[in-house]
Amino acid sequence: MTSVRKEIPARTFKVQYSSYRQYKEPLRRDFNKRCGYCDDIDHHCNGKKGYHIDHFRPKNSFPELSRDYSNLVYSCPYCNGGKGADWPAGNSPETFIGDEGYIDPCLSTYDNHFARSDDGSIKPLTKLGQYIFKKLNLGLRRHKLICMLEILEGLLKQIGIALENNKDYDLLNKQSAVIREYLLLQEHFRATL
Ligand SMILES: [Zn+2]
Repeated sequence: MTSVRKEIPARTFKVQYSSYRQYKEPLRRDFNKRCGYCDDIDHHCNGKKGYHIDHFRPKNSFPELSRDYSNLVYSCPYCNGGKGADWPAGNSPETFIGDEGYIDPCLSTYDNHFARSDDGSIKPLTKLGQYIFKKLNLGLRRHKLICMLEILEGLLKQIGIALENNKDYDLLNKQSAVIREYLLLQEHFRATL
């Protein structure tokens, strides 16, 4: 088991815009092209076009925060759709009450509630984690497949660099095995779309 996310995003953008939609590019940069909740990289979902801007505190209940950059999260459509307007904390300054509610993905404490299994799947570690996991559908197969595709992409890159420097048959065999596994996973991934 490892941390669910590769790094904790940080909102660094300071310019103010009149529409929250204008924040998509800076959000994408600040969130390293990844969904704040599930960590999926956006290139498996048509990049910036396919990703959403989530209002952490929902805009229906908190219209005054709808253009507040500190309330925005770069999100895949699956997590954003699952969360919707759900906000169990009501008007409380806390973002969760007991075991129900959410944690801002820019806080390091978000990662205390989840882990990543060796097969790429996300596991909730706490009751609050279970609440978020269920609402956001973090058990969707695509999250696990995207994580594994990324690991294989990293391996292929490393092998490619090693092969350039050193023509080695063992490495060539490893490269062929990784490519086969990668193509198979891609097939499974396409079946989930
Ligand atoms: Zn997501």
